[in-house]
Amino acid sequence: MIVVGGGPGGVACALALMRGCAEAGRGVRVTIVEGKRFSEGEHYNQCVGVLSPPLQDLLERDLGVAFPDHLSRGEIRGYVLHSVREQLRIAGEGVPSTVVRRVQFDAYMLEVARQRGAQVVSARAVDLEFNAREVVVYTESAPLAGDVVVGAFGLDDGSAAMFERLTAYRRPRALSSVVTKYHPGQLAMQAFGSWIHAFLPPDPRVEFAAVTPKGNHLTINIAGKAVDSGKMRAFLRRPEVRAVLPNLEKAGEYDPNDLRLYKGRFPYSLARAYFGDRYVMVGDAAGIVRAFKGKGVTSAVQTGIRAARAILEAGISAQAFRSHYRRANMDIIRDLPYGRAMRLATILMARSGLLDAVLRAARGEPRLQAALYGAVSGGAAYGQVWRDSLAPASVRAVLGAALTGRRRAP
Ligand SMILES: Cc1cc2nc3c(=O)[nH]c(=O)nc-3n(C[C@H](O)[C@H](O)[C@H](O)COP(=O)(O)OP(=O)(O)OC[C@H]3O[C@@H](n4cnc5c(N)ncnc54)[C@H](O)[C@@H]3O)c2cc1C
Repeated sequence: MIVVGGGPGGVACALALMRGCAEAGRGVRVTIVEGKRFSEGEHYNQCVGVLSPPLQDLLERDLGVAFPDHLSRGEIRGYVLHSVREQLRIAGEGVPSTVVRRVQFDAYMLEVARQRGAQVVSARAVDLEFNAREVVVYTESAPLAGDVVVGAFGLDDGSAAMFERLTAYRRPRALSSVVTKYHPGQLAMQAFGSWIHAFLPPDPRVEFAAVTPKGNHLTINIAGKAVDSGKMRAFLRRPEVRAVLPNLEKAGEYDPNDLRLYKGRFPYSLARAYFGDRYVMVGDAAGIVRAFKGKGVTSAVQTGIRAARAILEAGISAQAFRSHYRRANMDIIRDLPYGRAMRLATILMARSGLLDAVLRAARGEPRLQAALYGAVSGGAAYGQVWRDSLAPASVRAVLGAALTGRRRAP
């Protein structure tokens, strides 16, 4: 098996296949082709690095890999949700999320794969060839041949184009994101605490934004169909955002890279033909992630494991992936329309000001609070989030809060 991309999806697939083959007493040759050098610190990953449940279970139970507690830069206890006028603090239940530096997490996972026998080729895959007996992956170093290729290349345009040229695969649609960070100082970080501040601003082009504590600094990201540096600057000027960013005027004093901008993307739709004879996509490349927000690393690992199981149990044909891989992912796929609807509803509520009433209402209505927490943390299926949001008690609470707000307005 050849895996194009050594991020969480690709490495999880490699580890699960090697483990499954070892248990069954079968031999297997796994090669991971990865263009970046995570361990040398020369590559940045725009991912904020919040590792959310059930990632620990997936790593430890399904892959036999210790959760990298040693890489932790802190834990996340819950969220503070912000609309223009309101804010609501919701503590998480159960296992907290862990924040890491993504390059360190990727380096750790890739090293485990190497130790368990995967060959890691440090180069980019640049072309492919499918034929009846094998698939050939051309790289910047030697060409590789195998029975099946796993597309674990995230949202890399060149890799998507390579598969689109040769197969019916079509990449998922994506939101763009701008990310920056700054160091407000140790005392300010202590006061900030272990909470992610999530913003749903009224600008419809910024669909969501977050400020995440990460050890000695805060990471700030905004996402939307076409966000750019101007949108980030405008976001940082918003009063409700300034109110949670301590010492922003001192950015750069502790670290010269403060407020440097990076760009990234989130998939928000399913890719077309994300499997076929001798190929299967996992993680972001497949678009099998939650449609609106969150848990990209967890989904990547989960889909990587599921792809390996499909290969072990059913083989490498399009039919095998349809009957095993697609079916295994139906929990995420069936939820995508609910997530898309939630995305649109949130944009409309943020734009119309209704979100203020929703946050006010949620203070006294536990089911609505659970819906908001599920939506923002990625902890609940969007179908469930809709059911909680549309429960009679939730609707009554929002209508009551909206009417009270209107009466109070001048
Ligand atoms: C701003 C931002 C913040 C995020 N924050 C979080 C977060 O806090 N928590 C979370 O769970 N998720 C987060 N995500 C999402 C998360 O980053 C992704 O969902 C996750 O990384 C997907 O994993 P993957 O393995 O599918 O792809 P990736 O992690 O993108 O890995 C793909 C790998 O393939 C390699 N590659 C690509 N093409 C080639 C090629 N041709 N040859 C060789 N190698 C190749 C790349 O170098 C890369 O290492 C965030 C995303 C963004 C944009």
